[in-house]
Amino acid sequence: MEDKKSLIIAIDGPAGSGKSTTAHLLAKRLGYLYLDTGAMYRTLTWKALKDKVNIKDEKALSQLAKKIQICLKPGSNVETKVYLDNKDVTSLIRSPQVNKYVSLVSIVKGVREAMVAQQKKLGKNGGIVAEGRDTTTVVFPEADIKIFLNASLEERVERRWKEEKTKGIFSNKEKVAAGLLKRDRIDSQRKISPLKISEEAIVIDNTHLSISQTVDKILKQVKKTVK
Ligand code: C5P
Repeated sequence: MEDKKSLIIAIDGPAGSGKSTTAHLLAKRLGYLYLDTGAMYRTLTWKALKDKVNIKDEKALSQLAKKIQICLKPGSNVETKVYLDNKDVTSLIRSPQVNKYVSLVSIVKGVREAMVAQQKKLGKNGGIVAEGRDTTTVVFPEADIKIFLNASLEERVERRWKEEKTKGIFSNKEKVAAGLLKRDRIDSQRKISPLKISEEAIVIDNTHLSISQTVDKILKQVKKTVK
C-alpha cells in the first residue's frame, strides 16, 4: 500500500476556478505541503515591474528568475505567505498591475525552466498539493492524482470580483471578466506548457459546489489511490 504521506496531487485550471482555496484546504487536511505555483510567477512579475525590467526582454526576465529567492510559507488563512529576499510580498503580488502582466512573463522559456526546477525540487519527496497551469502536465507528470478544476465564467468572475472587493480593489464585473478571459487565452494558447486538460486528469466543474464539497471529491480520490 502506498504511503499516504508520499502522494503528489496536482491541480490545474483557469483563473478563478478555486484552485488555491481547494489546494490549501486539501493540503491542510492531509498534512501536506501546499505549493501555489502561480504565486511564484506573480512574485517574479512584481519584481520585474518594480525593477523596471522590460517585460519583453526575455533574457533579463530569465536572469531575474534564476536569481531571485522566493519563499512560500503557509499563512493563517487560505493565502500562502510569499517572501521575496525576506520581504513579505503577499499582498503586493495580487495587484491589478501584476494580474495584467503575469501571463506575459510566464510565456518566457527561461522563466518557466527556472520556476519548474524549483517546483520539482519542492515536490521530490511527495506529500504535496501543487496547483497552477502546468502542474499536471509538466511539473509533476508523475503525479498520483491529477485534477482539472473548472467553473463557469460567470461564477469565476463573481468569485474574483468578491475577492478583489475584500481587498479594497473596486472593479466592475465586465473589467474582471475581460482580465480573466485575456489571461486564460494567453495561458492556454502559449507554446510552452499551455494550460490544458491532461489525459489522466479528473475534471471537476465546481460551479455549483462549495469549496468543502470540492475538497471532499478529491479526498475520495486520495482514499481510492492509497487503498
Ligand atoms: O494561479 P494564478 O492565477 O495566481 O496564476 C497567475 C498566472 O501565473 C497565470 O495566469 C499564469 O500566467 C501563470 N502561471 C503559469 N503556470 C503555473 C501557474 C501560474 O504560467 N503553473
